[in-house]
Amino acid sequence: MHCNLIAGEWRTASLANTNRNPSDLDDAIGDYASAGSDDMRDAVAAARAALPGWRRTTPQQRADILDAAGSEILARKTELGTLLAREEGKTLAEAIGEVARAGNIFKYFAAEALRQQGELLDSVRPGVEVMISREPVGVVGLITPWNFPIAIPAWKTAPALAFGNTVVMKPAELVPGSACALADILHRAGLPAGVFNLVMGPGRVLGPAMLEAGIDALSFTGSQATGQRLATECAARGIKVQLEMGGKNPLVIADDAELEQAVECAINGAFYSTGQRCTASSRLIVCAGIHDAYLDRLASRTAALHVGHALAPETQIGPVVSEAQLSANLAYVQSGLADGATLLCGGERLERAQRGHYMSPALFAECAPDMAISREEIFGPVATVLRADDYKHALALANDTPFGLAAGICTRSLQLATHFRRHAEAGMVMVNLPTAGVDYHVPFGGRKGSSYGPREQGRYAAEFYTTVKTAYVGL
Ligand code: NAD
Repeated sequence: MHCNLIAGEWRTASLANTNRNPSDLDDAIGDYASAGSDDMRDAVAAARAALPGWRRTTPQQRADILDAAGSEILARKTELGTLLAREEGKTLAEAIGEVARAGNIFKYFAAEALRQQGELLDSVRPGVEVMISREPVGVVGLITPWNFPIAIPAWKTAPALAFGNTVVMKPAELVPGSACALADILHRAGLPAGVFNLVMGPGRVLGPAMLEAGIDALSFTGSQATGQRLATECAARGIKVQLEMGGKNPLVIADDAELEQAVECAINGAFYSTGQRCTASSRLIVCAGIHDAYLDRLASRTAALHVGHALAPETQIGPVVSEAQLSANLAYVQSGLADGATLLCGGERLERAQRGHYMSPALFAECAPDMAISREEIFGPVATVLRADDYKHALALANDTPFGLAAGICTRSLQLATHFRRHAEAGMVMVNLPTAGVDYHVPFGGRKGSSYGPREQGRYAAEFYTTVKTAYVGL
């Protein structure tokens, strides 16, 4: 059994969760310990005990450990990418790319540990100096989703440790393998006992136990429903909170878009990673002048996508992560049909040589903005097309959503691109690019129902993982 890491010890549990490959359900990846509330209490206590020592380490000590972890992740990217593709179902190329990103994130935050931020100011009073410095927030809880099994744990853990916090991480039940591998790498990179703790198991048990055990801050990525519940509980307990949640990201295709490029943006944004990205281009808003030609081309490209085993070299779209997610996707296809949308292709369960959760990418046309498939995050390979009269109408449709993570436009006009960049109600805007696919050294996050609290990643991560101290010194 793969164990939890608590206070520097690998601890077994009385319950285990068998991790299965969604490309091939007969492939059991391993048994992973499923912790209870007591384990979570112990992990938070270990992180609390380790905090004074860790926050006193020099930036060089922290940088060296993070850099070593980043180097090992990069050196093992094919092996770790294979594990990730096996447990999550994204293609091997995508999985290796995700692992490389995780390695680079550790290296980025190794340097960030050295690049401290502070200010020295004259007071408005004579003979007084003011110093503004940043200190760690303390014990940080991290709760992560299944769709980026190593990148999201990395982009939360690396800044937390770089800025002197101690960590308790609770990964998603469907992808314990990548989290376990990361914990092992950090442990062997030289982290003192208790600085990083891994507690695997059910969120509905371990989430409340984590808050009850007394963490100082919580960074959560996952669904809106879970995030909103956690925000309320954190507010009641005075826990600093950061939430990254769902999206229903619009990609506007303007009349003057370069057709092939705009089709590729939608194929990549809507369907790669099986549509299981919070930044997926799940709402395609196509202006009337290009609409029919665009849909012709997009439907034939979508129908030709190769769905298969995540490790097979010819696969473009891997399986859906779980039976529950596949059933939810198929239910949305039925809901789209019942609401009168036109299914141009896909939307069916597929049989393959191995038993897996395979589904053909679904493309719906003639969708109304108030249909469930146009408004709710599906989190699968289902894209809806809304017809817009012109750019102005397209922008209004793009912003007509409770979410605000990413928004994109395909256009050859600098004027439209600039207008869209300024007026899209989203945390991230892409021009002539898919809405999914972001850099690791710049802020990530959204608006409205997609995010809450400070941004993640890049130097903006300091906002969440540090707290500001203002000191007055009489001279
Ligand atoms: P989820 O909310 O079901 O689970 C996320 C995590 O929360 C898991 O670790 C889960 O065990 C835990 N959890 C479940 N119930 C809990 C509770 N009561 N208390 C505390 N923790 C609990 O989400 P998911 O299905 O794993 O992930 C998919 C969702 O994540 C999608 O909505 C997607 O948009 C979102 N996501 C967002 C981003 C982003 O950065 N905005 C990135 C990736 C995924």
